[in-house]
Parts: sequence; structure tokens; C-alpha cells
Amino acid sequence: MKSIDILALARESVKHLRPYSSARDDFQGEASIFLDANENPFPTGYNRYPDPHQRKLKEAVASLKKVNKNQLFLGNGSDEVIDLLFRGFCEPGRDNVIIPQPTYGMYSVSAAINNIKVIAPSLTDTFDLDVASILKAVTPLTKLIFLCSPNNPSGNLLNPKQVEAITESFGGLVVIDEAYIDFTDAPSWISRLTEFQNVVVLQTFSKAWGLAGLRLGVGIADPLLIGILDTIKPPYNINAFTQSAATEAILHGSGQRERAVKEIRTEREVLRKKLEALRVVRRVFPSDANFVLAEMTDAKAIYQELLKHGIVVRDRSSVILCNQCLRITVGTATENNQLILALDKL
Ligand SMILES: *Cc1c(COP(=O)(O)O)cnc(C)c1O
Repeated sequence: MKSIDILALARESVKHLRPYSSARDDFQGEASIFLDANENPFPTGYNRYPDPHQRKLKEAVASLKKVNKNQLFLGNGSDEVIDLLFRGFCEPGRDNVIIPQPTYGMYSVSAAINNIKVIAPSLTDTFDLDVASILKAVTPLTKLIFLCSPNNPSGNLLNPKQVEAITESFGGLVVIDEAYIDFTDAPSWISRLTEFQNVVVLQTFSKAWGLAGLRLGVGIADPLLIGILDTIKPPYNINAFTQSAATEAILHGSGQRERAVKEIRTEREVLRKKLEALRVVRRVFPSDANFVLAEMTDAKAIYQELLKHGIVVRDRSSVILCNQCLRITVGTATENNQLILALDKL
């Protein structure tokens, strides 16, 4: 069991913070006339502020993820959780974080916005962790290490033994971003949170659940850490529509979600085989996600050609270790076929 002093890791101003107390915080109980929050009394369906504690939605997410509600933080997308981790635990202009590259760009952008220095060691040429170089990069001011598994844009799962080695040795927080975990058979790190008090697992409703437009991300961690995020979050960060629509999806939409994930996984392998047979494709990297990274003969030119067919993929060719690579999201069978047809004409 790896335990750390989570409160000691918090940003100095956060340790002493008294959070904003919203009208709905100050009053808890039964009432029928609400004159406390300067809301408009005439019903629109949305004239009341949403529940700042997201009680119903948290209930549903907690039972879905098999965790306690006090291990759960809900964000306006995972992107908000990432930002709050910087704001909660990193001192601007002083602390640093480690972000092995290439990975999801939002970690570095969020670090920059918060004026936190980024140490960016490279993954290996197979996109695996170089544990020694990561641990060597740690300084006394390193607060967070971001690990994305399956990784974006490479698509591979990180080796759990290596993640464990980093987590064991590091005295700060290890953020394990599992945005794509539903597209693999690998177990989530949620099941090991009791072993590692310094792990924060991020998941999202944007990918497997098909709810990117709702903006709902999840942070799962030790209750003390969740308490810090709760203290610094905007009171109404999850809007009323998202709270009710996501609750509904969890309670009644899991069949649809499972069918979508199954089809995307099948299509991923169909897409891989078809891509590999094309003249313009050099290789396709193995993927545990809902996209594939493909090395092309000329990524930039092919990207432009696809645009002429109305097909947009992600050009990652200027990213480290992704020379000549395009990242292609797995679409429907029809969409994937149109992509292949367009590529075959080149
Ligand atoms: C898509 C993605 C997310 C999701 O972010 P949301 O803000 O929840 O939509 C998070 N992490 C990674 C690595 C992603 O690729």
C-alpha cells in the first residue's frame, strides 16, 4: 500500500481556502418556496440552479464504476478535472509536472495556462514508458505525472508493471487518463486505488458513451484528494441538462453503449487490415482505442487529398515519434469504407 500526505501536496492558497458557499449549499432541507438564489420563479425547465453536489448523477456513476461517492469527482469534461488538478496541487511559477510525449495535448496546454513548468521525456519508439528516464526527471518540485492509457495519439495501453513502478517510486500524484479504457479488455486502475493513494484515474463520457456534447468527465481517487477538488471547483460546474441526461444514459443506455463499443472494436480491426493493404500506408500501429495511428507515405499531402473528399482525419505528423502519421478515428462501417475508397484512389 502506497500512502502519501495528500493535504501536504496541495497548493498553499488551497490549503487555507474557504470555498464559496452557494445558496443551495447554505440551505439543505425541504422547502417549496425558493427565494434564496435570485432565480426566475417562472418555469422554463431550467430556471433553477443545478445541484452543486450532483447527488443523483454521482449515485449512478458510483454504482456504474463500483466506487464510493466520496471517491468521485465530476467535471465539465475530463479537461476540467485536468485543470483543477493543476490549480489544486501546483504552485504557479514554481512547481513542475512530467508529461511523457507524445500524448494528449490538453495536459501541456492546461499546464501552460496555469504557469506550471512541463518536463517532457519521450516515450520509447514503441510508445512505451521509459521508466528510468521518467523517474530521473523527477525533482522535489514535481507534483504530477500524467500517464495516458490507452495513449492518445498512439493507441497503445501502457504496461501496468511500468505504471506501477512509477507510482511506487513517486511522491506526488500519478494521473492515469483512461479516456479509452472501454475499448480494451484491460482492467481499469480503479480496481487498484486502495493500493495506491497517489493515483487519480480519469475517465470520460465523451468516447465509449457517445456523450461528448454533454461535457462530463470523471476523476476517481482517494476521498481526501476528491475533497480538495470539491473545494476549488466552480459550484455549478455540471449543468442541469447534463446531470439529468447523463443519469438517464447510465440507468437506461448501457445496452446501446455496449453495442457501439463492440461494433467500433470490430470495425477497428477491419479498418486496420484495409489500411495495411493500401499503397499509401506504411504501417498501422496496434490500437486499444477507438482510433488508429497510421504511418503514411506523405501524411500532409494525403490529409489534404482526404479533405477534398470531405473526410477529415487528424494530422499528427509534426508530433514527436509520429513522423508521417495520421490519427484516424474509427467511424461507422460506411464511413470507414469511404475513407478506404478515397485513399485507394491516391
Ligand atoms: C478525448 C480525451 C479525453 C476526453 O476529454 P473530455 O474533456 O472528457 O471530453 C480525455 N483524455 C484523453 C486522452 C482524450 O483523448
